[in-house]
Amino acid sequence: MSIRIRFIGTGVAMPQPHRVQSGILVELDCPVLFDCGSGVLPRLTDCNAIRHVFLTHLHLDHVADVMSLIKAKWLSGSNDLKIYGPSGTRDWVARLFDAYPYMRDKIAIDVTDLADHDRVSIGSHEIICAKTAHGMPSLGYGIADDARVKIVYSGDTEPVESIARLSDGAEILIHECSFPDSVPDVTNHTTPSALGEVMGAISVARIVLTHLYPHTRGFEDEMVQTVREYCDCDVAIAADGMAFVIDS
Ligand SMILES: [Zn+2]
Ligand SMILES: [Zn+2]
Repeated sequence: MSIRIRFIGTGVAMPQPHRVQSGILVELDCPVLFDCGSGVLPRLTDCNAIRHVFLTHLHLDHVADVMSLIKAKWLSGSNDLKIYGPSGTRDWVARLFDAYPYMRDKIAIDVTDLADHDRVSIGSHEIICAKTAHGMPSLGYGIADDARVKIVYSGDTEPVESIARLSDGAEILIHECSFPDSVPDVTNHTTPSALGEVMGAISVARIVLTHLYPHTRGFEDEMVQTVREYCDCDVAIAADGMAFVIDS
C-alpha cells in the first residue's frame, strides 16, 4: 500500500496568487486533512470523503475554512466530521458555532483536544502528536505505519527537538520554513539555517519546505541549498498541487 500526500495550500496569511493557506491532504485508508486555511475548501475535489481533520494550531491561516468545510459537507449530504487539534480546539469549535448558530446539528461534529505524545488511530495508521514552539498551543503530527513514522508535518513552529525525534527515520518531513535567512530575528517560525541546525543530526529521506511567506519569493533555491548543506537528503520547496507518494 502507498500513501499519497497532496499539498493543497502552501501559503500563509498574506495573499499570494500561487499559494493558498495551509492544507495538506494525506490519503491513508481514508483521506485525512491536515490544517484547513482559507482557499483549501475549493480545492478539495471530494469533501464528503474527508471525515478527519487535524489542526496544528488555531491561527486563522490554518483554520479559516473549517466552518466552510462543515457547510460544504452538509450541503453535499455528508454526515460527520472528526476534528482534532491542540488544547483549546474544542472551545474554539463551540465558539464557531456560537457565531454561526444556523450551522448547529447539520452534521455530527466530534472534537478532540490532543496533547504531546497522544496517538490517534485512523484505520491501519496512527497519528502521533509532538508539541511544537509557536507561542500558543501547537502540535506537529507524525503518521506511522506498523509503528514506524513515515511522514511528519510540523505545522507552524521554530525548529524543535520533538519534531526532529519524530522525524528520525521518516520518509518525508514537511516542515514550515516561513522566511529566508535574510529576514532577521525570526521567532515562532523557521528559517533554513535554523532548520538545518536542528534537523542536520537526523536521518530523513526528504524535507519539503512549506508555509512560505512572500518574503521567500526569489530565495527558493538558496533556501533549499542552505538546508541541504546541513541535511544529507532531498530538499524541495512545496508548491500548491505538488504531490508525493510514499511506499508503506
Ligand atoms: Zn501560526
Ligand atoms: Zn501559519
